[in-house]
Amino acid sequence: MFTDDDLLPISALQHLLFCERQCALIHIEGHWQENVLTVEGEQLHEKVHSQEGETRKEVRIAYSLPLYSRNLGLIGKADAVEFQLTDGDTAQGVQFKHLPGLPAALKKGHWLPFPIEYKRGKPKIERCDEVQVCAQAICLEEMLGAAVPGGALFYGKTHRRHDVTFDAALREETKSAAIRLHELLSSGITPRAEYAKRCEQCSLAEVCLPRFTSGKKSARQYLHSLLNQ
Ligand code: SF4
Repeated sequence: MFTDDDLLPISALQHLLFCERQCALIHIEGHWQENVLTVEGEQLHEKVHSQEGETRKEVRIAYSLPLYSRNLGLIGKADAVEFQLTDGDTAQGVQFKHLPGLPAALKKGHWLPFPIEYKRGKPKIERCDEVQVCAQAICLEEMLGAAVPGGALFYGKTHRRHDVTFDAALREETKSAAIRLHELLSSGITPRAEYAKRCEQCSLAEVCLPRFTSGKKSARQYLHSLLNQ
């Protein structure tokens, strides 16, 4: 169980799963560089977070909902959480009857949380987006005492919503990522670069210099290759 001072950002899981060196450069060394991808991603999140909560038929939507999990040691925000009225196992849902100022319709019944994470691009082969939304689900379960069996990812490029089931394998992957994140950041050590295709998309490539710092080339070889380009 982590204390409040030990909580790390949920978004760091994405950095960790993309590249441990990138994660360390951001969260240990404090580097951040914008590129087109990060700016577009931020704009999409700002647009989502600026929305007021809303109610549609049997769904109540909360935007920019603060989250934490002391079990995983994570803190952050959900872009959106749909609370879906359930007529299934009511013990799994949450109730709003004690919250002041809500319409009468929302005070009845049990509501199942369903987190939605907005992403700029399109679905990836890697599971980093699924892990991020699963971490949000685990936070919601811990905070609300409700079951969160599913959620979704919405991709700006395709304008499509992809449902995600929080099965045992994804939960285990998420837990392992959170443990590794705490290990990496508490070590205070930035791993060496490993040049890979992902480096072409990395906003920190100019800070990292992966071809130089990966150790596969000497400084002399690196400078030669630059001069010969
Ligand atoms: S440039 Fe490559 S090795 Fe360096 S931080 Fe980015 S992804 Fe990682």
